[in-house]
Amino acid sequence: MPRPAFLDLPPLRSVGGTVKLPGSKSISNRVLLLAALSEGTTEVRDLLDSDDTRVMLQALRQLGCGIEPLDARTLRITGLGGRAAHSPAQLFMGNAGTAMRPLTAALALMGGEFELSGVARMHERPIGDLVDALRELGCRIDYLGTPGFPPLRIAQADGLPRLRLDAPVRVRGDVSSQFLTALLMALPLVAHSREVVIEVVGELISKPYIEITLALLARFGIRLERDGWRRFTIPAGSRYRSPGVAHVEADASSASYFIAAGAIAASADGQKDLEILGVGTDSIQGDIRFVEAARAMGARITGSANSLQVGRGAWPLKAITLDCNHIPDAAMTLAVMALYAQGTTQLTNIASWRVKETDRLAAMVAELTKLGATCEAGDDFLRITPPADISSWRAATVHTYDDHRMAMCLSLAAFNPARLPVRIEDPACVAKTYPGYFDALFDVARADAADIPVLCIDGPTASGKGTLAAQVAERLGYHLLDSGALYRLTALAARDAGIPLDGAHEERLAELAATLPVRFVSDTIWLDVRDVTQAIRTEQIGMQASQVSQWPKVRAALVALQHGFRRLPGLVADGRDMGTMIFPGAPLKVYLTASAQCRAERRHKQLISKGISTTISDLRADLEARDARDMQRAAAPLKPAEDALLLDSSALTIDETVQQVLQWWQARRPFSA
Ligand code: C5P
Repeated sequence: MPRPAFLDLPPLRSVGGTVKLPGSKSISNRVLLLAALSEGTTEVRDLLDSDDTRVMLQALRQLGCGIEPLDARTLRITGLGGRAAHSPAQLFMGNAGTAMRPLTAALALMGGEFELSGVARMHERPIGDLVDALRELGCRIDYLGTPGFPPLRIAQADGLPRLRLDAPVRVRGDVSSQFLTALLMALPLVAHSREVVIEVVGELISKPYIEITLALLARFGIRLERDGWRRFTIPAGSRYRSPGVAHVEADASSASYFIAAGAIAASADGQKDLEILGVGTDSIQGDIRFVEAARAMGARITGSANSLQVGRGAWPLKAITLDCNHIPDAAMTLAVMALYAQGTTQLTNIASWRVKETDRLAAMVAELTKLGATCEAGDDFLRITPPADISSWRAATVHTYDDHRMAMCLSLAAFNPARLPVRIEDPACVAKTYPGYFDALFDVARADAADIPVLCIDGPTASGKGTLAAQVAERLGYHLLDSGALYRLTALAARDAGIPLDGAHEERLAELAATLPVRFVSDTIWLDVRDVTQAIRTEQIGMQASQVSQWPKVRAALVALQHGFRRLPGLVADGRDMGTMIFPGAPLKVYLTASAQCRAERRHKQLISKGISTTISDLRADLEARDARDMQRAAAPLKPAEDALLLDSSALTIDETVQQVLQWWQARRPFSA
């Protein structure tokens, strides 16, 4: 399945409950590399599972480290511990700066032949200052494309490089702090017999990331001496030692989206604050200081060692002017909070935004402007003035530039007071650091039910509704309601309980329907502890479903269950009466038909492929009998809703029907192109 092109967020009203954050990307990739360089094994717990950590794990595997999953949240890494890495190796770094920079440094010092490349954007992200420092030391590194940028070749086929360690290793600190991090993590490899000194040239940016590096180096046995942020000394005799177990704390940058949500949105459960688990006041991550910035804008935040509670304090938020050098990533979230502030917010010292996953300064200006804000950016600052009034907000299609943080930040625009939906393009880009972000957001955010879109797809048996609905739901990232399954489940449960399906037993059938112990877990349907996904699909159960579905009390008993499927971000509902009875206010209703002959032929093909033998004429007779009963019953008879769009699929492929429905849907959305 291709990545969904967009995700539409309905207007969000409030937040409540608890969110458990995934592990930090910065800590995860550092811990993985340090474990890989250490002697012995390290159990890495609560590792982030994301694009960037997968890239790192794959590279470490190729280089000869042992990587063994112990359970869903724990990996056991067997480090190289002085052994040579497998060489030659071609390593693909995706767009993971936290893998590219430190691996380049470590491999350059270890000897061997390696090629490191990445996606197109990675080849635009600078690495020249790190390569200069390593070359100065005596390492051989060649550019394979543009000088100063990946891809690179490290070529020391003739063994270990002869290193010049007498003079301090000098590295620039004002482009990316990852260059210094890379050297801090690599140079202990050559500090066995002598001390190694690193000197930073220029003002060091993003110091909090260096704090993370230093804290983790200490955990793996390397204690540096340092002179402010200028000079770091790795003592002679330093050697990586596994701490045995390394725990990855949750991502403080990821916390920023929920801190912001708590500050922006009303509380969903009275006065209870939104609870964020996994990071708190004890965090070693610099982005935890986002808490102070959010407080300055008005957020009410309390915290413990490992959790935060956030609620609305000042409202509207207060505009601030802030030097963001200490929170470069989380500062992006402030830019979106500024949409909800009174006055102009100014974020300064953010030049590093230009060399991240995308040029984040340009990207932020473009997207906030689309929403109705007024923005001004310079080399290293951004000024944001929110939309002047409610009518100045726009329903925007937000471009995300393959940048996870753009997608996550801009999702917060869905809390806009104009109650407009927001379209996020390429929502899957969040997988770089937080694959489950949108699910987590939808778990804690609340919308008015009427604002959660429902697409109804009704029609007769075997018209192709099920397949159409499932594919449309997948493309839109919406939930799916197969309402026929509920009648089938009722029929199955009645058969198990020995209840006849006639009108004399309507009461008991309705009771059964109202208390179905059903659970839908991705593609599996559970009735109590039984997987009934296949069992309810037989022709016989279909026919029996049509029998039970004619009883008004059974239908009434299933209404609440069906309404419960209307959850964020939206629903595609397939059945017979979705548009007429269950979701009469739905913004798009499709009535899908096909000739009886055509439907019988399709069903025949389906059954034959499952090895069930039957004839087309028998099937057609069954279909027509089922249609007749569904259309003639008094309760919710099968018919198109008055405002339904008719779609005859007799001469169309599935893909063509999907395209048609998506086109109709697009036409009803408020987004400008
Ligand atoms: O769509 P499916 O074949 O699974 O539906 C089985 C039966 O359930 C239909 O023939 C129809 O009688 C009943 N049904 C209904 N209303 C719905 C969905 C299905 O009456 N919304």
